[in-house]
Amino acid sequence: YYPTPNPGAQPLKVATDPTFIPFEIQKASSHLEGFDIDLMNAIAKVAGFAVQFETLPFDGMISTLQAKRVDAAISGITITAERLKTIAFSRPYFKAGLAIAVREDNQNIKDFNSLKGKKIAVQIGSTGADFAKTIPNAKISTFNSGPEFFQDLLNGNVDAVVSDAFATLYAIKNDKLKGIRVVADLLTEEYYGIATPKDSPHLDAINKGIAILLSNGTYKQIYQKWFNA
Ligand code: GLN
Repeated sequence: YYPTPNPGAQPLKVATDPTFIPFEIQKASSHLEGFDIDLMNAIAKVAGFAVQFETLPFDGMISTLQAKRVDAAISGITITAERLKTIAFSRPYFKAGLAIAVREDNQNIKDFNSLKGKKIAVQIGSTGADFAKTIPNAKISTFNSGPEFFQDLLNGNVDAVVSDAFATLYAIKNDKLKGIRVVADLLTEEYYGIATPKDSPHLDAINKGIAILLSNGTYKQIYQKWFNA
């Protein structure tokens, strides 16, 4: 399955929130990079379409897809039953999960139970925000992006952050986040998918593209580039 690109076709408009490092990163004003960006470009190449990225806040992603203002979104978006009511997803492309992050000196937050009644920061519209709602008596602060809630944690305004483990561990490992550690176990098992409007005519090509990259070694190369695992 290597279709020839259709020269007259419009590029797919693909939304992404570039604050979710290393999945999407915006360095210069218009230049995007990251695991998701490489993956989407590679899918487009083998599936024979062009991509035009558009940056959007994560919180607006689902409604923008629903309104069909973009053709797809790639942004570390977890496939959930709730989201599947209004949009569609590709096959899963990344295994992820939520984790608790605390300041390095914090000794009392160890697991779900120790989050009860604590002050917790989350990203608006994220699975971390949904999860935090299930913690009894937690006081939840919401933020638009990762860098903001980690700053709030470092400032001592909250006791913990509940967010995607991979992104947090990456930031800690690469010295972008000092003074924060991730608490042992994952709280959830999640899978990222590329999101599209329901009944998207592009979903099939996207899925075939992912399948090709998984079998021809390209997925592994991209994974190693960003996570050197
Ligand atoms: N995986 C989380 C979610 O889908 C957060 C993604 C993100 O912040 N980009 O809600």
